[in-house]
Amino acid sequence: MKCLIVDDEIFCREFVATLLRSMGDCHQAGSGDEAIVKVRAALDANDPYDVIFMDIMMPGMSGHDAAKAIRGLEKERNVEKRVDIVMLTGLNSTNEAMDSFCNAQSSAYLVKPVSKDGLYNVMSKLGLMHR
Ligand SMILES: [Mg+2]
Repeated sequence: MKCLIVDDEIFCREFVATLLRSMGDCHQAGSGDEAIVKVRAALDANDPYDVIFMDIMMPGMSGHDAAKAIRGLEKERNVEKRVDIVMLTGLNSTNEAMDSFCNAQSSAYLVKPVSKDGLYNVMSKLGLMHR
């Protein structure tokens, strides 16, 4: 299992990374732009991510726009199995998370602060727990 955790706050990235460490290879990005660079590199290397955790509220590019850009990259390359994107949202941005979900950019969302149970629940629903 290869995952990418995108959040402008290092504490949030580290928290999710710690919970997922035993399940696979976790990479981190501190911005939407950095995330796009990493996703593009993974696609180029034919070693795509299985799941991306994407904070919505980030300075510069929002998680919402970064997710859209990632879907664009996948479309451009005719990727067969799209990466699961889990939006990380504060209580004040659940509407954007829903929006992203309804527009098929994301597979799920988690409300911050992320809990261990919430995270494992989403991983299990996406069938990523034992991959
Ligand atoms: Mg943030």
